[in-house]
Amino acid sequence: MTVSEMQQQVDGWISRFEEGYFSPQTMILRLAEELGELAREVNHRFGEKPKKPEEPEGSLAMELGDLLFVVVSFANALELDLNQVFASVMAKYEDRDALRWTPKNPSGGPPL
Ligand SMILES: [Mg+2]
Repeated sequence: MTVSEMQQQVDGWISRFEEGYFSPQTMILRLAEELGELAREVNHRFGEKPKKPEEPEGSLAMELGDLLFVVVSFANALELDLNQVFASVMAKYEDRDALRWTPKNPSGGPPL
């Protein structure tokens, strides 16, 4: 599935309901909610707060998926093309951080 198809599928889902997209403020709160849920799973799995025996096992993948859903929803609500957004962000990192990390290339040149 392409990112454009993801945006279309999310739009198809949300367009089925009268409420439509949340406001930007609520989108931020939704991101915070889902980030907290992901953080909880990370803490249980890798951190110092194991789950109680009666707590069900969560899924890091599903929590990442929830975050992705909200990011895609937010982009749709703002009428942003995530393909263009991603291309711009990668170009930023490739320029800004080209010499920041140790390249795997044995010649010592910047990563391809
Ligand atoms: Mg969640």
